Amino acid sequence: MIPCHTQYLSADPNGLAKAADLLRRGLLVAFPTETVYGLGGDARNGEAVAAIYAAKGRPSFNPLIAHVGSVKAAQRYVQWSDQAEVLANAFWPGPLTLVLPLRDGHGVSSLVTAGLETLAVRVPAHPTAQALLEALDGPVAAPSANPSGRISPTTAAHVRAGLDGRIAAVLDDGPCGVGLESTIVGLAGTPTLLRPGGVELQAIEDVLGSRLHLHQSGDLLTAPGQLQSHYAPESSVRLNAQTRQGDELLLGFGAVGCDYNLSVDGNLNEAAANLFAALHDLDKTGRPIAVSPIPNDGLGVAINDRLKRAAAPRD
Ligand code: AMP
Ligand code: MG
Repeated sequence: MIPCHTQYLSADPNGLAKAADLLRRGLLVAFPTETVYGLGGDARNGEAVAAIYAAKGRPSFNPLIAHVGSVKAAQRYVQWSDQAEVLANAFWPGPLTLVLPLRDGHGVSSLVTAGLETLAVRVPAHPTAQALLEALDGPVAAPSANPSGRISPTTAAHVRAGLDGRIAAVLDDGPCGVGLESTIVGLAGTPTLLRPGGVELQAIEDVLGSRLHLHQSGDLLTAPGQLQSHYAPESSVRLNAQTRQGDELLLGFGAVGCDYNLSVDGNLNEAAANLFAALHDLDKTGRPIAVSPIPNDGLGVAINDRLKRAAAPRD
């Protein structure tokens, strides 16, 4: 994480244009939504998404919600369905997130989806969030704008207290309303409640005309990281490898001879941005994977967390 000067922008046309420009340049902007202030980065830019994790000091990679301005914008990135249409008509813009299969040519960084084949999308109702998304005309990945483990911010002053000097700008539009997170519904298979939130379960079931399956036989997904379907490579993974053994392919970091380099310069931000694409590519070969040591500081903590889970013994 490189310290930077944080600009405080008002939610007027000038501030919005500046905020959209910063996002376009791969920088981070905190902005109000109707739930909490989100820490936004361009979801198509892997290094911007990595910077979100670095600024928050998050110790692990969980998939992030892509915020878009309209149903039409959502349809550029996910495979739309009748159920999605019905729920979007009823609850968008608003605190409902839909998880849908990615569509071909989506262009979203695999760090947003944590390597999954699905994407969580939402159209926020806050007018400033709407205006920003319209100005950018692209998807914005945005978890809450607080350091990892601290409470979610509902004012620009909260964001300043936690992230000043770590992000490019805060778009200040006063306190946000609800403070409650979005409800997340999975529509990639059987409609499933993945996280309770601002839209009630009953209201969703009424609109769908059917019951929602509850995540993990009744266990609600309440905390990030509880995701069942986290991407795991098929091949075996060996960590802290200096050289290849046998048939292995080497996933390198820094100045090493290898089959795929996460970052030749030893840049952890770049390595994070490349991580899931690298695992996918190497996994496709069916050969065992060896991984260079990754320093365990900054984003290295989250990278190592992910690699450790990839290397853990399977059933
Ligand atoms: P936050 O951005 O902090 O509100 O958290 C996002 C939540 O959405 C996390 O609990 C994620 O696990 C969940 N999520 C995001 N993308 C997906 C996905 N593709 N499938 C299932 N859950 C997801
Ligand atoms: Mg949060």
